[in-house]
Amino acid sequence: MLRVSGVVKSYATPQGPLPVLKGVDLALAAGESLALLGESGSGKSTLLHLIGGLDEADRGEITFGGVALSTLADGERAALRREGIGIVFQQFNLMPGLTVADNLAFQARIAGRFDPVWRDELADRLGLANLGGRYPEELSGGQQQRVAIGRALAVKPRLVLADEPTGNLDEATGDEVLRLALDLVARTGCAFLMATHSTRLAARLDHRVRLASGVLVAP
Ligand code: ADP
Ligand code: MG
Repeated sequence: MLRVSGVVKSYATPQGPLPVLKGVDLALAAGESLALLGESGSGKSTLLHLIGGLDEADRGEITFGGVALSTLADGERAALRREGIGIVFQQFNLMPGLTVADNLAFQARIAGRFDPVWRDELADRLGLANLGGRYPEELSGGQQQRVAIGRALAVKPRLVLADEPTGNLDEATGDEVLRLALDLVARTGCAFLMATHSTRLAARLDHRVRLASGVLVAP
């Protein structure tokens, strides 16, 4: 479903190029979950951004469902990202002016994939059914992240990318949010790639790899 081959990425900095990814290879099948471990600054977010099409690799190839991202025109890449990939960030990133119900539906509507029955099922399973009329600022952190997970899944993506999704939550809340996310991921059969620095959380996914010195190593 997802294949990353020989991906290299540096950032331009005032001190010169900063190499972050030095040849990263990974594969993820539909229905599988993979934890991307690594210390802070090891390049986890960089790799997720490349896979999510938010930034471009210097070298290497990322293929999604057999299609290489580099062969797509900008508009096609944007459509693939909208329709095929759901992203969950550490900072929740909800739309402050929209209710919970509208935050859940927002991206699915843009992608032309809004299904109200699925939205209501997501709200139910995420324990948000009674919060549909609230605004993000009226929610706890755990509730906000549950909305963000629902929003990512509302498009029925083939891949969900989660960048330290429980990093802003206390341990018990984070555990519960991850449990709900993994339940829903299993239910939809999509692939799940989660960056985390926690070996404890990583243990709950199917597979684990560690990013260190710009390459993936055994965890
Ligand atoms: P992680 O998510 O594992 O903490 P990141 O991918 O965010 O790591 O960052 C990897 C390295 O790249 C860090 O040294 C970070 O400071 C640097 N970095 C990240 N984004 C940029 C950027 N836009 N410009 C320059 N350096 C960056
Ligand atoms: Mg990061």
